[in-house]
Amino acid sequence: MLRGGLALGGALGLQACAPTATKVASASSRFGRPPLVPMRLTPDQIVDIKCCIRPFRAAGPNLSTEQIGDTLVVHNYGHGGSGWSLSWGSGEVAVTKAMSVLPKEIAVVGCGIIGLTAAVMAQRAGLKVTIYARETIQRTRSFRASGSYTPDSRVCLAEPAGPGFGDLWEQMARFSWKSFRTMLGVAGDPVVFHDSYGLSDTPPHRTEHPADPAITASYATTGRPQQQSEFGHYSDRLKDIVPGNIPLSAEENPFAAPYATRTSQMHFNFASYGQILLAEFFARGGRFEQRDFHAPAELAGLKEKVVIHSTGYAARDLWQDKTMIPVRGQTGWLAPQPDAAYSIHYKNGLAMSKSDGVCIMNFDTALGEMQGVGNSLEIPDRTETEAALAALAPLFASPAARA
Ligand SMILES: Cc1cc2nc3c(=O)[nH]c(=O)nc-3n(C[C@H](O)[C@H](O)[C@H](O)COP(=O)(O)OP(=O)(O)OC[C@H]3O[C@@H](n4cnc5c(N)ncnc54)[C@H](O)[C@@H]3O)c2cc1C
Repeated sequence: MLRGGLALGGALGLQACAPTATKVASASSRFGRPPLVPMRLTPDQIVDIKCCIRPFRAAGPNLSTEQIGDTLVVHNYGHGGSGWSLSWGSGEVAVTKAMSVLPKEIAVVGCGIIGLTAAVMAQRAGLKVTIYARETIQRTRSFRASGSYTPDSRVCLAEPAGPGFGDLWEQMARFSWKSFRTMLGVAGDPVVFHDSYGLSDTPPHRTEHPADPAITASYATTGRPQQQSEFGHYSDRLKDIVPGNIPLSAEENPFAAPYATRTSQMHFNFASYGQILLAEFFARGGRFEQRDFHAPAELAGLKEKVVIHSTGYAARDLWQDKTMIPVRGQTGWLAPQPDAAYSIHYKNGLAMSKSDGVCIMNFDTALGEMQGVGNSLEIPDRTETEAALAALAPLFASPAARA
C-alpha cells in the first residue's frame, strides 16, 4: 500500500495537463524529469491473481518465549500486513532471545519471510540451522503479498498492543530498514526504490480515523476490531529516514487527475529476494526438512533444543492462538512493465510496477484497514482486480477521450 497517509478520493474534476497517447508527457520541470511511460492497465494483461490471509494478531507479533519440555521455543509470528517490512528487525529480536541460552544449533519452524530471514540471521550469528516447514518460501503466504515497506500496516490494535509496543515496533522497523538498504543495487534487484504517485480529484489531506461514537462494540467486547480507529499507527516515528510525500504542481502532474503527490517508496521483488535468501541459507550449510507439525509438543521432539516458531497465520491452529484474526487480501498481477517502473494510487485502485509484475490491489476506501477483517477465504476473485483496473484506467486517458 502506498505510504504517507494522504487521503485520495472525490469525483473526477478538471485535468491538470495533457497526456499524449503513447507517453504521459510531463511538462518540463526546471530539471527536466523524463516523461513517464503509461502503464497498460487492461484485464488482458492479467497473468495471476493471488489471495492470502494476513497473520494479524491483536497485540502485535508474538515474540515471547516458552519452555516445552526441554525445548526453548521463541515465537516469531503474527506480523499482519507488515511481515516483509519487519522481517529483519523481528528476526533480530527472536535470534537474540534464542542466543541467550548459548545454543550451537537451532531449529526454525516455518519458511515464510519471517522464518527464512530469522534462519539466515541465526547463521550469520554463527549457529547451525535446520528449517522444518510444510513449504519453502515460494509456496508460502508470504509470496502472495504485494511487497512494499509498510511496517505499520495492520500490525496490531493500539489498545491490546499497549503503550510499550511503539518502542519495540520502532526498533524492528529501523533495523529492517537498514538491513534492506544493504540489498539495494544487488544483482536481481531484490530491493528497489520507485516513485509512488497518490492521485485524487480533491486536494489531498492527511487521513485521520477518529473513533465513530455510534460504534459501541470493539475488540474488547467482541474479539475483533470493529472500526479503523482501533488499529495501531506508528509510521510518524520514522519520518527522519523514510521519504515523505510532496505535492506536485499542475505542470509536474502528468496524470488525468487534478491532484498528485509523489514519494519514493521501497519495494521487494519476491522472485529474486526469495532466491537470494534461500541461496544464502544453503550456502551457509543450512538444512531444510519438510515437516508438518500438528501440536506444540511435537517441537520438543526435534533434536535442536532451541526452536524459533514462525508459522504465521497457521499459529492460530497449531498454537491455538485465537488472538490471531484473519485479514484477507488479494493481489492481481499483470505481466511486468519494466519501462513503467512506478506506482499509482487513485480511488480504490493501486498499481505497483515491479520487476516481478505489476501488482494490482483494490481498496475499499470506506473500510480502510477493516477491509478483509474476519475473512479467511483464500479464493481469488477476478472481478475485484478488474474493478481496480477500471478505476485506474482514466488516469491515462488521451486528451480527446477526456474532452
Ligand atoms: C495482500 C497482502 C499484501 C501484503 N503486502 C505486504 C507488504 O507490502 N509489505 C509487508 O511487509 N507485508 C505485506 N503483507 C503481509 C505479509 O505477507 C505477512 O506478514 C508475511 O508474509 C507473514 O510471513 P510469515 O513467514 O509469518 O508467514 P507465512 O508466509 O505464512 O509462512 C509460514 C511458514 O510456516 C509453515 N507452516 C505453517 N504451518 C505449519 C505446520 N503446521 N507445520 C510445519 N510448517 C508450517 C509454512 O509452510 C510456511 O513455511 C501482505 C499480506 C497480504 C495478504
